[in-house]
Amino acid sequence: MITLALSKGRIFEETLPLLKAAGIEVLEDPETSRKLILPTNREDVRVVLVRASDVPTYVQYGGADLGVAGRDVLIEHGLAGMYQPLDLNIAKCRMSVAVRADFDYESAVKQGSRLRVATKYTQIARQHFADKGVHVDLIKLYGSMELAPLTGLADAIVDLVSTGSTLRANKLVEVERIMDISSRLVVNQASLKLKRAPLRALIDAFATAIPK
Ligand code: ATP
Ligand code: MG
Repeated sequence: MITLALSKGRIFEETLPLLKAAGIEVLEDPETSRKLILPTNREDVRVVLVRASDVPTYVQYGGADLGVAGRDVLIEHGLAGMYQPLDLNIAKCRMSVAVRADFDYESAVKQGSRLRVATKYTQIARQHFADKGVHVDLIKLYGSMELAPLTGLADAIVDLVSTGSTLRANKLVEVERIMDISSRLVVNQASLKLKRAPLRALIDAFATAIPK
């Protein structure tokens, strides 16, 4: 049996065409089904639905043989026990620094001020500001980062941006792009040895269907 870990929503939706290229069809819709294990048209392949940030944990410890996770999630979790054979070029967005429109970020950085930064992505934020030589106090949040500068909790946030409409709706501006984000295929290292042929076939089929 091959177990593929996916999260509901954009990753599930954008992985479907890649599965199709491998001849795999998921037989239930996660938006209407309550099942967490979804059968496919292949008796030896199943999909497990987990939180986006839990995908690397499942793959690392072999709860799934492979999975699809954002670069953001993979950097925060680390890649221990996993191979990352493909950038699938799906679920694309960017990691950025944003502040209130009335906050002069450039001056604050130039003056060497200590910045309070709220984020769910503490590893990425820590590395980014260390590279710039900017001192920061990181405040860990689990969601609704946009609220932090508006309430005075933080001067800045580090968050994912795609269209920028959420930032605009909250009168925040993007002041720095940290990195481009897309989702990657990750494979358990032991699985790749034990189930080499079927996993290799899957990886190769995915590779042929990666969107431009
Ligand atoms: P959860 O909903 O379980 O808290 P999540 O919000 O991280 O997790 P998704 O919103 O499905 O889950 O995001 C999954 C991945 O998709 C993220 O890790 C990121 O790589 C990417 N992503 C997030 N937001 C966007 C976006 N607006 N546009 C494109 N890709 C995005
Ligand atoms: Mg989300």
